Amino acid sequence: MNSNILAAWGTSSGGPGDWRDQSACRAYDAEQFFPVGNSGSAARQTEQAIAVCLSCPVRVQCLKYALDNRIVDGVWGGMAEGERLSLKRRTDRIRRDAERAAPKPPPVEALPATARVLAEDTRYVIGVLRDAGKSWREIGHRLNTSDSTCREVHAGTRPTVARATEETARKLSQSLVNAE
Ligand code: SF4
Repeated sequence: MNSNILAAWGTSSGGPGDWRDQSACRAYDAEQFFPVGNSGSAARQTEQAIAVCLSCPVRVQCLKYALDNRIVDGVWGGMAEGERLSLKRRTDRIRRDAERAAPKPPPVEALPATARVLAEDTRYVIGVLRDAGKSWREIGHRLNTSDSTCREVHAGTRPTVARATEETARKLSQSLVNAE
């Protein structure tokens, strides 16, 4: 029988600071958290496992881990298999709805002339900074935007980092000067 749930995860602790080292279930048999079935004694076992999770300081991390890794079996983060599945479906649906509702940026060609120039300049500047070995994070900081926005502009899936303002243009120029 496994001595604790780390064994059930098939992995050991990731070292100092690993959230798993704080898990409330470490002192329990892993089998307690992997009931077979969902009625009778298995249902009681699930309830007992969830009760342990409710006092666990790393419940959120545990649930996220299970969702991110699409783990089907067992109790994780205070949720049984069916509950996690239904949570995942709900969050997927909300994310899809949000993506559909999000306004799509216009293609560069559709921008007014000044904005089009700025968009091309922005892409050029980001390319220069990348060639200079700057990280996405640093580029985003310089352009006063997020690193993901810089990636999208660089890839051509987003027209520009910001509205066409003189302030933006000034930052772009400075970025070029400081790229060396
Ligand atoms: S939330 Fe539950 S399964 Fe996850 S680490 Fe804590 S006690 Fe263990």
